[in-house]
Amino acid sequence: MAWTETFHCDVCNKQRKENSEDWWLVWDEPVASATTERPVPAIKIMRWDLLMSHSAEARHLCGARCLHTLLDRWVSQRD
Ligand SMILES: [Zn+2]
Repeated sequence: MAWTETFHCDVCNKQRKENSEDWWLVWDEPVASATTERPVPAIKIMRWDLLMSHSAEARHLCGARCLHTLLDRWVSQRD
């Protein structure tokens, strides 16, 4: 029996179809800085990878448009 799983875009909530290769994964990955006490906010973007898509922290994006939307939100957020 095939094991099917469903992913939804974290921006538009679209469901991923099997073999949709234009999806993206995004992680928060703060970078330690020598000049500030707190890590500097940073994010990592990678092309869809089935194994990595299972990561609990990964955000799933259905394409370049939603990736841009997420980046727009990310760069305009303030602590
Ligand atoms: Zn989307």
